[in-house]
Order: sequence, then structure tokens, then C-alpha cells
Amino acid sequence: MASQVMNRIVVQKYGGSSVGDLVRLRGVAERIARTRAEGASVVVVVSAMGNTTNELIALAKQVAAKPDRREMDMLISVGERISMALLAMALRDLGVPAVSLTGSQSGIITDESHADARVVEVRPDRVRRALEDGLVAIVAGFQGMSRAREVTTLGRGGSDTTAVVLAAALNAEHCEICSDVDGVWSADPRVVPGAVKLDSLALDEALALGRGGAKVLYEEAVRYARDKGVSIVASSTFGTGTGTVIGPTPSPSAFAVTSDEQLVAVRLGGDPSATARAIAAAGGKVRRKHGDLVQVDVRNAHGGLAHLPGMLGPIAVVTAVRSGLGERLVDVESLGGALAAAQLTVLDSGCSGDLAWWQVPPAEVAAATRVLHESLGQTATSAA
Ligand code: ASP
Ligand code: MG
Repeated sequence: MASQVMNRIVVQKYGGSSVGDLVRLRGVAERIARTRAEGASVVVVVSAMGNTTNELIALAKQVAAKPDRREMDMLISVGERISMALLAMALRDLGVPAVSLTGSQSGIITDESHADARVVEVRPDRVRRALEDGLVAIVAGFQGMSRAREVTTLGRGGSDTTAVVLAAALNAEHCEICSDVDGVWSADPRVVPGAVKLDSLALDEALALGRGGAKVLYEEAVRYARDKGVSIVASSTFGTGTGTVIGPTPSPSAFAVTSDEQLVAVRLGGDPSATARAIAAAGGKVRRKHGDLVQVDVRNAHGGLAHLPGMLGPIAVVTAVRSGLGERLVDVESLGGALAAAQLTVLDSGCSGDLAWWQVPPAEVAAATRVLHESLGQTATSAA
């Protein structure tokens, strides 16, 4: 038995662009070495290098119009394994003992839902043992194993989930999600020049943002963090910024606007149950149902949904998030009024909880984001 008293445990997740080439990958190894030198036991979760996952999916589509979902998982889980092995080698080269582990070796047990599996249990015995032996544990993100011992993946962006579930299971101090962006911003600064970085954000609002399509925060990961009480710090891998702390504390003044263009609209039609089953079988994730129409996320529907009856085509949704916004109809209507005043086309809209959403033509997403960000800023100031 390990007699060593365990250090505090820190989980760090590095996204695909942080390990996008070998120079950056070595830089990540150095960053990990520094954290370890500060006295922490470090668990690292790593994504596939750069564009690897997209390239693997493109390969699959060259051999099959609707690639089998089990085989797809065998294929796309490879990207993270390349990163984990290279990162462990780079750390050892720096004199830091490290071992790489796949999702299944790390005890990430999921349901059977290939390409969009849900974590049902975490048994990180090998990770814990590696830490007790003084090693940095490098875990391949985005993947797990079903009870039938099949390799599964957790949905696009799912390395965040790996990091959060491990942080919860290991009782880590916090879970740091490192990317090329310094934390969570009030909007994509490339779209909204006046966007600001949020210093802190409540898990509820972060969840609403993830649901709205924000790329820095994978919805499933935030949901798990909220349910298990894990604090997330979103920080930049190579920058000097202070990042965003995402935790249980309410952040009433924080607001943000995000958008999602990886959606299609489907009409439920005469046999809604059959349509619902067809959406699920194709790997579509229902975002919301509004009357007879459903908004479906197609990120993990690798064979597409074009064959579905009732398929209406691609749509875009812009989402505004602020604590309790969806319950303040006065504010929601004034935001809608700002879109109308800017002559933008609203095809559908709704609100609930911490958010309000507007379906707009894809070509108007950027303009709608700017208008909503500006109006929300004014609402926020007048409310303060
Ligand atoms: N490599 C996977 C993706 O590109 C998972 C992740 O990066 O989180 O979606
Ligand atoms: Mg991500």
C-alpha cells in the first residue's frame, strides 16, 4: 500500500489547439512540470492535436456515407491517444515521471450511446495509483468504455467532461480547462469588439452558455460540475491572463451572448414518436421543442440527418444569458425590440430560466450577436 500522504490534486485539461503542434505540446509539458513543482499531484486530460478529430471524421466519410457509430468511436478515440502518449514522452524528456492512460484504463464508464456517450460511473483506480507513485497521469480525453467493454466517445468537445468527472471522482482542488482563450468572454471578441472577459461566472449561467453553443464550455461537463460541486477555472495555456472562475457563487452582473450554427430544424409531423426515434438513432441531440418544431444539434450525427422525414434544414440560434433573464419578460422584449430596430430577421424566439434565444438566418448571426450584446450591456447597467 502507498504510505505516501497524497498532495493536493489538480486536474488540468488541454484543448486541441494547446497541443496543436510539437512546439506547443512541449510548452504544455513545461506548464505541467511547473504545476507539479508547486507541490500538486497533477492529472492531465488532453484533447486530440489541432484538427485531428475533424480529419479522422473526414476519412470515415470517404469510405462510408453513414459510418457505423461503433467503428466511428474506434476511429475518433485515436486522436486523444496520440496526444497522451506524446505528452507523456515530452514530460519524461523533461525529467518528470508520467504515464499515459486511455479513457477505459482511467475507469471512465459510459452508457452504450456511441459518439455521444454519457458517463455513468468513474473508477479512477489506476489514475490514483499513478499519483501515489509520484507520476503525472496523462488521460486521453473524450473517451470511455461501456459496460460491454466497447470503446465510446463523449461527443464533440467531450474532453472537458473527462476532466470534470475525474476532478469529481478524485476530489481534486479544482478542474482547470486550458485553451488558447483566456477564460469565458461576454461574446466572441472576433464578432463583438466590445466583448469583455468574465472574471467569474456561476455554474448555472455557464450551463446556459454551453447549451447555447459556447465553445469554451462543453454543456455536459458543466452539468456534471454543477451536480458534483466541482469548481472550474477556464484559463489560457500560454497567456498571462487570470481566466474565469466558474463556481457555485451567483454572478448577477455577468452576462454573455453566444450562438449555435450546428443546428437543424425538424418538423415532428404525423408520427412524432417515430420522428423522435429517428433523430435519436441518427445521433441528433434535441436542443428544444417549440410546438411542432424541434431544434436538433447535429455535431455528433456523423451520418447527417438529411434523410429524416420532416427535415427543414440548417438553422442558427443566438442565445443571451444572464441570471434570471428568461423570467424578466420586460428585458427579453426590449432585446427583441433592439433586433427589430436593427432590421434583423427573427424566425422564432423563446425564453426560460437564465436565457432568451432568437432563431435568425445564419447570415445574420454576427449582427444579431452584436445588437444583443450591446442591448444586454445597457440593461445590465440600468439594472445595477
Ligand atoms: N477531440 C474531440 C473534439 O474535437 C474532443 C475534444 O477536443 O474535447 O471534439
Ligand atoms: Mg472545447
